[in-house]
Amino acid sequence: MISVDQALKKIMARLPECRPTECTLSNSLGHVLAKDVQSDIDSPPYDKSLVDGYAVIAEDVKQDIVLDVLEEVLAGQIPTKSIRPKTAIQIMTGAPLPQGANAVVMVEQTSRDQQKVIIHQDTIQPEANIMRQATSLSQGETILSQGTFIRPIEVGILAEIGCTNVPVYQPPKLAVISTGDELVQATTTPHAGQIRNSNGPLLQALASSFGAEAQSLGIGIDDFETLSDLVATGLESDILILSGGVSAGVKDLVPAVLKRHGVEQVFHKLKLKPGKPLWFGVLSSADRQTMVFGLPGNPVSSLVCFLLFVAPVIFRMRGKTSECLQETTACLTADFHQRGDRPTYFPAQLTERNGNRYVTPLAWKGSADQRTLSEADALAFFKAGNQLYSNGEEISVFKIPS
Ligand code: AMP
Ligand code: MG
Repeated sequence: MISVDQALKKIMARLPECRPTECTLSNSLGHVLAKDVQSDIDSPPYDKSLVDGYAVIAEDVKQDIVLDVLEEVLAGQIPTKSIRPKTAIQIMTGAPLPQGANAVVMVEQTSRDQQKVIIHQDTIQPEANIMRQATSLSQGETILSQGTFIRPIEVGILAEIGCTNVPVYQPPKLAVISTGDELVQATTTPHAGQIRNSNGPLLQALASSFGAEAQSLGIGIDDFETLSDLVATGLESDILILSGGVSAGVKDLVPAVLKRHGVEQVFHKLKLKPGKPLWFGVLSSADRQTMVFGLPGNPVSSLVCFLLFVAPVIFRMRGKTSECLQETTACLTADFHQRGDRPTYFPAQLTERNGNRYVTPLAWKGSADQRTLSEADALAFFKAGNQLYSNGEEISVFKIPS
């Protein structure tokens, strides 16, 4: 069986090229820029006042000097007069600076007497309270580069520079099929022998949270032909996730169904706990490629396999270069007995006290115990092999993205 690292390398080797597209500014949050973006304007577009006050010649300013007020310029207006010695123009924040002025005295440092203003400060530096044209950015300049992740801040910048059709990478289309005769929809009360399909909603939510365009194709019963029809639809997506049906049970039909559709198996099973039965393959045709993941049916195995192997594929296809699972180290708060020949990702709680990180493995009852996950915000990592990890020992921990 291959290792987690080997599996990830094999998956990443099959990544398709990122596909550039365009989206509206209001839909651009969370995407990655597919091209450099230039500004169509200077910012500020003119020399402007940074305060409400009086535009003056700095050299005129001294305590109690009286200046003639020539006019008032509000934001959005343009000055019609020029400043001459011993004159001032009342100006609002953001309004264009009048010709001849080289500083703005804040209104709080003045008092007004009809058409005159009295200044209450000794001096002012030339350029005080002014922002000159294009000091933030200039027309034609590249403001955001290809590969930039668009946060709310970038949405604001894109608006400022007039980029309303935003070049981004297209999120992958992802389909989820939950296989199993025992499954019923979450809206139903299960009869004897049945359980609710929790993986479908879990995997669809995970895929959406990592930025895929995810849809659920519902429950696929363990019947070769029926499952095969559903898989045919799923293979129209960029990523197809199946849950269940990849272990050694008599009704574990997923590998055979995928084979029937010409999906090339890249690997089946790996050294991982939970998640050993993971199946991965690729369907390639002239114009498209589908990456297919057969995730183990148990919910926690599905989650761990998704975080380790599917999430990075979604990230890369969206042009994101950051890691999906942040690795850190933390000290164990209790002894932990690791057993078996598979590295283990164990649901855990990460806490921070006095600048130190601590990790508490939870009372997890195995890969079917999804409930304990609600208390988990991390996966504690233990290497393969029997070993006693002592209370206080530092181990690797992966934060579960929220
Ligand atoms: P399988 O890999 O199909 O043998 O499934 C392994 C275990 O996971 C079984 O106990 C299944 O009942 C359970 N399981 C499979 N699919 C789901 C699902 N969609 N939601 C919750 N549990 C599931
Ligand atoms: Mg099954």
